[in-house]
Amino acid sequence: MNNTVTDTQLLECKDCGAVNRIALEFLDKKPVCGRCKATLTTPPWIITEANFTSAVEQSPLPVLLDLWAPWCGPCRLMAPVIDQLATELVGQVRVAKLNTDESQGIAQRFRIQGIPTLLIIRNGREIERMVGAYPKAAILQKLREVL
Ligand SMILES: [Zn+2]
Repeated sequence: MNNTVTDTQLLECKDCGAVNRIALEFLDKKPVCGRCKATLTTPPWIITEANFTSAVEQSPLPVLLDLWAPWCGPCRLMAPVIDQLATELVGQVRVAKLNTDESQGIAQRFRIQGIPTLLIIRNGREIERMVGAYPKAAILQKLREVL
């Protein structure tokens, strides 16, 4: 286990511009800039078939998973909302995105009928889904209801 390479994410600080290399395991823990100590903007986790088990099913936090595709207009409308939620919910909910064109097996497994679809997954199990584009307030409301 110890000889695996730790996955990291590069995050640019909005305050000072420093590029911070953050281990994935710390993305959920409100990472701060190494130079100026500002809280870093955390992006959604990018999920593929390769990391679905470790990053979603085994996540210690509930996961909000956005299933999308590049050709889907409503998905592109949702993208900035998902980005905002990733930072606002850091430490509470792991916000993640899965491109259904690239990971069709997972889309089939969850019987995704249309996109965008948002799945709320806790302890590896789907506990809620929202089909279609929703405003941020509706997504937050749903999270409050089910978590
Ligand atoms: Zn900084």
